[in-house]
Amino acid sequence: MNKADSERMAGILEDMGFEWSEDPNQADVILYNTCTIRDNAEQKVYSYLGRQAKRKHEQPDLTLIVAGCVAQQEGEALLRRVPELDLVMGPQHANRLQDLLQQVFDGNQVVATEPIHIIEDITKPRRDSKVTAWVNVIYGCNERCTYCVVPNVRGVEQSRTPEAIRVEMEELGRQGYKEVTLLGQNIDAYGRDLPGVTPEGRHQHTLTDLLYYVHDVPGVERIRFATSHPRYFTERLIRACAELPKVCEHFHIPFQSGDNEVLKRMARGYTHEKYRRIINTIREYMSDAAISADAIVGFPGETEEQFENTLKLVADIGFDQLNTAAYSPRPGTPAAVWENQLSEEVKSDRLQRLNHLVATIAAERSQRYMGRLEEVLVEDQNPKDKTQVMGRTRTNRLTFFTGDINELKGKLVKVRISEVRAFSLTGEPVEVREVVSV
Ligand code: SAH
Ligand code: SF4
Repeated sequence: MNKADSERMAGILEDMGFEWSEDPNQADVILYNTCTIRDNAEQKVYSYLGRQAKRKHEQPDLTLIVAGCVAQQEGEALLRRVPELDLVMGPQHANRLQDLLQQVFDGNQVVATEPIHIIEDITKPRRDSKVTAWVNVIYGCNERCTYCVVPNVRGVEQSRTPEAIRVEMEELGRQGYKEVTLLGQNIDAYGRDLPGVTPEGRHQHTLTDLLYYVHDVPGVERIRFATSHPRYFTERLIRACAELPKVCEHFHIPFQSGDNEVLKRMARGYTHEKYRRIINTIREYMSDAAISADAIVGFPGETEEQFENTLKLVADIGFDQLNTAAYSPRPGTPAAVWENQLSEEVKSDRLQRLNHLVATIAAERSQRYMGRLEEVLVEDQNPKDKTQVMGRTRTNRLTFFTGDINELKGKLVKVRISEVRAFSLTGEPVEVREVVSV
């Protein structure tokens, strides 16, 4: 989500006539797009900012911007901490960057953190990739997970219209993009805030309907979406994924904890049994589907036994990948002020144990690819071996094979897998699929 916001803001800057600089010390405008999901992400920005604030004393026309979730969380306080800042802007204001900068160039120090209705993109994002692209479908989050700062900083849910999403995807298809990832903090909430109900009484616009609506966009060969919430994940959606050939067989569905009591205190709204049922249903429809998730260890009050329930869930499900984190208390969230916080030692010990298990299980899951023919969408050169290119399987496994990036970038290549590792594969190219766009 942050990367997508960065690309949109970079696009606005480019549109205003700014050029990209690799060296921050040469830049006239520096924009930090920040994350506050955990404390270590937040601390990073202060160390970068300190250096540039110093430079501003020698170069007063340097423009310093903090955007994103730290900006939203800290607001005016950030100006008091770093008075050299010119602009503090929350994530909802990303599309307003040009207006806000104009106010700065007129001589104002600006803080833009008030909740607003997010305006449709008017500028083109400056996308890092020429092959895969992010497309926001819903901003914000209406959940209230007790550990999470996102609803405070990203505001309430705001869905884009299916038409606006399709127009953006059609443009991507014309530009040669092959893969689109639809984005939302809780993408299953898509459409709840849009008008319209069906005769059966359900919302007219759901993620499932959106998938059917955008599926035939010419040129786009693969569609992914993230992040799914187990509370709202439906069989109807699973059926659509199985039915629609462009939707990839990879599901990112964070479970956070494998223990029902912890899940309850996290206010997640499901049990581990329900989570298991969802995964079983996915596998009934798509036996080879890859499953990934996020999990938190060391939530306040988590006992050793409760942590072991998380280990058990991870082992039972057999995740292809898992993003793990030690619980980090966030300002303004309920769990941050509970008294049953765990020590850093306990948290880091549990994190290590979980990571170890994840690597073992992912390696086991990788075994199934051995000798198989997989379709890989080539994204880039392998930075560690220039004779190789890299891309992803439909199930999102990173795959390397010998080839020339100039010939293969953006191509779908059938690759015979000859080496498997926990989180990546190596193979031999067998056939390049020619995609004829209409
Ligand atoms: N909307 C998504 C993800 C939100 S943030 C969801 O609901 O799953 C991404 C991940 O960061 C979360 O899934 C969670 O695992 C982790 N996270 C969020 N708040 C955290 C906190 N306070 N401490 C540690 N990890 C956290
Ligand atoms: Fe945070 Fe929960 Fe919303 Fe995800 S669903 S962004 S974890 S509040």
